[in-house]
Amino acid sequence: MGGKTNFHTHSVYCDGKDTLEELVEQALAMGMDALGFSGHSFTPFDQSYCMSLKDTLEYQKEVRALKEKYRGKIKLYLGIEQDFYSPESTAEYDYVIASVHYVKKNGEYLSIDESPEDLKSFARDFYQGDIYGLVEDYFQTVALMAQSKCAFVGHFDLICKFQEQAPLFDENHPRYKQAAQSALAELLQAGKIMEINTGAMARGYRTAPYPAENWLKEIAKNQGRLILSSDCHDKNYLTYGFDLPLIAQYEKYINKSI
Ligand SMILES: [Zn+2]
Ligand SMILES: [Zn+2]
Repeated sequence: MGGKTNFHTHSVYCDGKDTLEELVEQALAMGMDALGFSGHSFTPFDQSYCMSLKDTLEYQKEVRALKEKYRGKIKLYLGIEQDFYSPESTAEYDYVIASVHYVKKNGEYLSIDESPEDLKSFARDFYQGDIYGLVEDYFQTVALMAQSKCAFVGHFDLICKFQEQAPLFDENHPRYKQAAQSALAELLQAGKIMEINTGAMARGYRTAPYPAENWLKEIAKNQGRLILSSDCHDKNYLTYGFDLPLIAQYEKYINKSI
């Protein structure tokens, strides 16, 4: 079956399981039309998951070589998942995913998708126990991506990664809704394409994609555009969840290319 694409794909150059070529072969076997690689950009303050500076150059070189090798068989793209706090240039890339993985508070970078225990301790140590303070800072950072030159905005409500397993806040709380709503409004106003991301489903954290359905509705209401991606870290889940009935409802808003 053709028509499938994925532009959010990690490899062994960062925290993915597969080589770039293994991913290409998988995409070909699945009859996909296009595959975009999006290694994690270098973040000097946390090098546990991202590409090193040396590997970034290797990654660029290898994707370019694969583009040549597979020309005529599948469209390959050299992309980057650019963390908001990454100081690296994005000039080399075919496209950029703009993502927020940290809140910067008192000079520290607080990783918001590492563990629920981390989130709890950040609220205690940096926000006098007020988790909504952390939520507000997260969405204020997300809103700043309205200014970025990106193909799309990654996982809008990543801060909800652990909500099903260890709920730390109420997504219907007025402060949560207000923070997310105003970030989304700014991004939509700037014409940003928003991502439907099934990655946390593939990895067993969630039973629904990012963003939550109420935000999908809001995007559709505002005639916003979406892109569907798996945030792939394992080639067996390259199009995980793409056939969800929920996603089919938003089909007409989903871009197939970048
Ligand atoms: Zn990400
Ligand atoms: Zn990613």
